[in-house]
Order: sequence, then C-alpha cells, then structure tokens
Amino acid sequence: ELANYAAPDWIGHYAQQTPDKLAMTDVHSRRTYTYRAMNERCSRLASFLRTKKIGPGERVAVLCHNSTDIFEIQFACRKLGAIFVPLNWRLAQAELSAIIRNAEPRLLIYGHEFSLMAEAFHASGIVPNLIETRDGQASPYETGIAEHDASLEAVPVTHSDIFAIMYTSGTTGQPKGVIITHRMTIFSAVNGMMKASVKGTSNGLTFLPLFHVGGLFLMANFIFHAGGHNILMRTFDPGQALAILGDPRFSITHSFGVPTNFSMIAELPAYADTDLSHLECLTVGGAPSPMALLEAYAKKGVKLQQGWGMTETTTLGTMLAARDAFTKIGSAGQPVMHAELTIFDDDFQHASPDAVGQLAIRGPTVTPGYWRQPAATAEAFHQGWFLTGDAAQCDADGYYAIVDRWKDMYISGGENVYPAEIENVLSGISGVVEAAVIGVADSKWGEVGCAYVVRRSGTVLTAADVISHCANNLARFKLPKYIRFVDAIPHSAAGKISKPELRAAFAREAPNHGHP
Ligand code: ATP
Ligand code: MG
Repeated sequence: ELANYAAPDWIGHYAQQTPDKLAMTDVHSRRTYTYRAMNERCSRLASFLRTKKIGPGERVAVLCHNSTDIFEIQFACRKLGAIFVPLNWRLAQAELSAIIRNAEPRLLIYGHEFSLMAEAFHASGIVPNLIETRDGQASPYETGIAEHDASLEAVPVTHSDIFAIMYTSGTTGQPKGVIITHRMTIFSAVNGMMKASVKGTSNGLTFLPLFHVGGLFLMANFIFHAGGHNILMRTFDPGQALAILGDPRFSITHSFGVPTNFSMIAELPAYADTDLSHLECLTVGGAPSPMALLEAYAKKGVKLQQGWGMTETTTLGTMLAARDAFTKIGSAGQPVMHAELTIFDDDFQHASPDAVGQLAIRGPTVTPGYWRQPAATAEAFHQGWFLTGDAAQCDADGYYAIVDRWKDMYISGGENVYPAEIENVLSGISGVVEAAVIGVADSKWGEVGCAYVVRRSGTVLTAADVISHCANNLARFKLPKYIRFVDAIPHSAAGKISKPELRAAFAREAPNHGHP
C-alpha cells in the first residue's frame, strides 16, 4: 500500500548525503545555509516547537514576508509530523481571521511587521501561541533555535499524511484550504524534475510569495527535493530579479513567475545587456502568456515554458515546452507524467478533440479535498476526477488550452460565450488598460455580456468605439451589450480579477437584471 510508505525527510536526507552543498540563500537578510546547517536549524526549531505542544497533526501557521525562516518552519513541521499552514499577508485581518478559524492552528509564527495583527488574533482566542521572528535578528524565534538541540529524530510520516494546508487565491470566492499530502509533494516534485529538468546542481530563484503553491512548490520545493540551491527574494522587484538572474555568483538555472513578472523584467533597459546564458529554463504560469513576452525571451535564447496548474494539483498539471511556444500559441501544453487529464462535457462524458468542456484531473498530485469543508470537497469530485473549474479544450495532438473559468461562461441566445475571449479582444484596443467581462441576465437572449473597461488616462474612447472594435474581431453573439468605463477593476489579493465583485457591482446598478 503506497499510502503506508514512509515519506522521507528531504532536508535530513541531503544533510547526510551532500552536507556541504548550499541549500538556501535569503537575499534580503543575506543569510546562506548548507544542507547540514539548514537541517540543524530545522531540528533545533522542531525541538523548540515541541515545547509548544506541536506534535503530529497539529497546525502551525506562518504569517511573514518571504524569508528562509518559512522553509525551516515547513521542514521542522515535517520532522514533527505537524501540518504547515502559510498565510497570505496580503489579505485583510477579517479574511485572515476566517482562515485561521478554519485551520485552527495551535501556533502562529509571525514576522515582526505583523505584530499587531498577530496579537489581535491571539487576544481574540483563535491562536493559543505566538512566536515572533525578525529575519535572522534577535527574536524569540532565533532564541528558541539557539536554546534547543538538534538531536531530534524525525517522526515517521506516510505518503497519505498531511504535509500542509495551502489556501487558494480566492478568485471565485472565499479561499479554500487545500489539503496537501506528502504524496502530493513528492509526485509534484517528480513532475517538476521531469518537465523543468530540475536537479541537484540547479539554482532556483523564487520571488513569488511562499503562501501560494506557485512560490513554495514551483520551484522552491522542487529544488529542495532534488538537493539544489534555493535563492529567495523577500518580494518581487523586477530590477533586483534581473540583477540576480544575471549574477554569476548565483548562476540561476531556474525560476518561476506569472506572466507580469517576466514581462516587467523584459521591459527593463538593462534586460538587453544582461547575460542570461546560465538560465536552463524559466517557467511561466497562472495565466496565459502574451506573444511579446515569448518573443522577448526567445530573442535572448532563454527557454520559457508555460504551464497550467492550481493549488489543488500542487502546481503543474500541464506544461508547454519552449520548443512548442510558437507553434502552439495559446496552449498550456501537455500533461505531466504523474497525472491524468480529461475534459468533460455538460453530461460528464469525455469530450472529443477541440470541444470546450470542463477540465478534470486525477492522480497522485491531486488533493483528497478541502480542510474541514466536506460539502465543497464532495462538489469538487465526479467519480474520482477532480473538477478544476476551468473550461478547456484538448487538440488532436493532446495539447490542452485553458479557455476560461467554467463558471464564468454564459449562454447568449443558446451560444456559449467565454468572457476571456472578449477580454483578449478588449485588451488589444490601444487606450484600454484592463478589461473584464461578466454574463448578466437578459430577457431576450437569456444572458448577455457586460464589459468593464479601464481607459488609459488622456485617451478618448467611447462605448461605440469599443463595440466597433469588438465587431471586427468577434461573432455577433459575443458582443457585450453593456460597456461600463470604470477607474479600476477589483482584484483579489493574488492579483486576479474578482468576478464576484463585478457581479455584485452590476446587481447594485441594475437590481432587476442580476445574474440568474
Ligand atoms: P479560488 O480557487 O479561490 O477561486 P484560484 O482558482 O485563482 O482561486 P489558484 O489555485 O491559485 O486559485 O489558481 C488556479 C487557477 O489559475 C486555475 O484554476 C486557472 O483558472 C488559473 N490558471 C493557472 N494556470 C493558468 C494558465 N496557464 N492559463 C490560464 N489560467 C491559468
Ligand atoms: Mg480555484
């Protein structure tokens, strides 16, 4: 039974086998540790956490900016069989409080810049214990590490035990706590090794926040699993990221970002002259990549791979190899080896090639469900398949393209409309900064589109201009009926457009329309 196999202690393993190799570097606080040193800190920290009654199954929450402390806490939890719960510091206090009530951690480790919030959680009784940390400076966290010894033996855990609870981005509603088992961490790392050629000599740069799988797993945990070196930035800054990518002392071979990160880097004047020749592969995902981005990296000879994934699949589900970037434009690529993908039509039949349906996935990287949310868990599965909530199509060659969120699709006069397609056309209008489309009820067509458009300041752009541009590029039934010029479009804490907020805005404006 695979479920009963022991899951290894990755850092303990490399501390034995390659103790002098570099494991992690914190760029902000200028700290760097070998696998031996990292393992020693993780063991001391685990002994310290044990004095706070952290044992198997107990949750340890973390609220701090990117810091190598987070890596230590993660692997100290592993040594204790405890569950690691990284929190999104971009959320408001009330949102975080809802997450903490769901996770019920026994302990919150917080960066000192979050002291006020941490103390408020403690005072309201939702976290019994607190430990403050300060990026390596004198703090209860460092004292705890210094005062406890490294003799602790890692608790045995199995593949089916829980490693972490990672909260989703909250694009479609409240963030959901995704259960991440040890099996998921292992198989996602194997998928990553294969698709991105991660190995022991890899040096990965992480700038995305570690509270989402896109920062913590891709690439950081993939690199730890392979015994490579993780270089960690506190937050994303394009100038600093480019300087590190071009710095021979780091020799960065891998990095992962969302399209905006790599676009911002390529737009810097220094980009043209920066030597990126040691980069083996950049991975970009979370959203579709614009053509200009692909061209900017192709020009420098950098391999840029695009991928699709989600929290519930511990990152990668598909990957588009760099060699396919210009022949399979708009595609998210082929499935990883350790996962099965399919597309369901409305009746849960497997769809034929090129038909748009709901993407579903099953396999060892897929979550068993949401933490303490049985109804949401039951709703997310169909006969063992996890329903991703993404509308997608698969071509005859087996390449998947993400079309939109399944629930954002609306039906106008009997035709399916995917707002993302209209949004792409709207974004192509010079003078449009950002656009978002939702389906709203309509007495004649069932549903019609309402487009929210942010104009670049100083541009003259009328609703008629917008419609005529759309009419040149889209079928009639896709033309939005309403155009609303707005100052800004609401975004979630992860930076994704919040359609629920737009639907609420439309309902306030036109209470008799509403969404059916
Ligand atoms: P929530 O589940 O709370 O609503 P979320 O789905 O945005 O939030 P994540 O798990 O962070 O939370 O994001 C996964 C989603 O990101 C996918 O379901 C998909 O909609 C989108 N996504 C990921 N990769 C791509 C891609 N390459 N192209 C288009 N969309 C992508
Ligand atoms: Mg989701």
